[in-house]
Amino acid sequence: MKYDYLVVGSGLFGAVFAHEMKKRGKKCLVIDKRKHIGGNIYCEDVDGIRVHKYGAHIFHTSNRQVWEYINQFAEFNNYVNSPIAKYRDELYNLPFNMNTFSKMWGISTPKEAQEIIAAQIANLGILEPQNLEEQALSLVGTDVYQKLIKGYTEKQWGRDCKELPAFIIKRLPLRFVYDNNYFNDRYQGIPVGGYTRIIEKMLEGIEVRLGVTYRAFAEENGEVAERVVYTGMIDEYYDYKLGVLEYRSVRFETERLEMENYQGNAVVNYTEREVPYTRVIEHKHFEFGRQPFTIISREYSSEWHQGDEPYYPVNNDKNNELFEKYRRLAEQENSVIFGGRLGNYKYYDMDKVIEAALQLVDSL
Ligand code: UDP
Repeated sequence: MKYDYLVVGSGLFGAVFAHEMKKRGKKCLVIDKRKHIGGNIYCEDVDGIRVHKYGAHIFHTSNRQVWEYINQFAEFNNYVNSPIAKYRDELYNLPFNMNTFSKMWGISTPKEAQEIIAAQIANLGILEPQNLEEQALSLVGTDVYQKLIKGYTEKQWGRDCKELPAFIIKRLPLRFVYDNNYFNDRYQGIPVGGYTRIIEKMLEGIEVRLGVTYRAFAEENGEVAERVVYTGMIDEYYDYKLGVLEYRSVRFETERLEMENYQGNAVVNYTEREVPYTRVIEHKHFEFGRQPFTIISREYSSEWHQGDEPYYPVNNDKNNELFEKYRRLAEQENSVIFGGRLGNYKYYDMDKVIEAALQLVDSL
């Protein structure tokens, strides 16, 4: 065999894996069906503004090892994510915190906010939240749910909040202090020089072939490696033979505007159902850009169909059960390992992807 590992997909999982294996003296070949490396963390430089082509990525973690790991490849700026939520003509701070509550109810103390939420929850009779709606209601009450969660969530996921798992909303902090930091994590920032540069550095000295699908590659070359690390969709790998897993796809409408500052923030969420997009990203604000022009992307969420780019696994019971069947099938494989958001069908953040890749390397 020419290679120890054929890594399918040059996103964060594949790049960390290949980098670590190279350090251990293994020979890897990385292939990617796209014409560029980096998977969905790829950014495109447009006259000095790095455009997050596949959606905004903000690095955050509480794992010091992961933070030190990623800092080998880039220095991080001090960007702190503090999205604004726009509901009709009302603006609120996110995540749900004292700024949000004081704007919503005209109150100023945590006690007042907690009393209002408690009163709103009292009659709902939710003991143990069974889905996203119950989870959200029991955390923040009806007003915040109606204005800031329901419409946004149903747009993003294309499903009723009662049909979505509770864990999705638990990603968002809820706090009774005046703190607009979207994340609770100890470390956070955007890499100076961009995400693509990180992947380039990880892949230094490793053979990479772009614009090649796994299927076409395998047909043409046969088996070239002892093992395959597959970071694409696990159900696609198996030709959907046990059924099709559901994903959400995202479409971006990107526009260059001849003004310095369009919305005054990197992320503005449009939380009412009637606006068709979920959020507008103004890319320069991730890096405190001062260019005389700006670039924005409106983000539209849609159900994934074969041929679309998959972004989010829909981790409800039905899909998790189907994934479990694929996982059991995968367990039988001697020479193929699945990884990353698509291979593991998991709503991973970047830090968790790195953790998982490092764990896999250790276990091998
Ligand atoms: N969410 C919401 N309102 C918002 C922002 C987020 O209800 O203004 C909910 C929504 O259900 C979403 C989840 O929180 O799916 C997670 O949001 P996050 O910003 O973490 O999603 P990502 O950045 O991964 O798309």
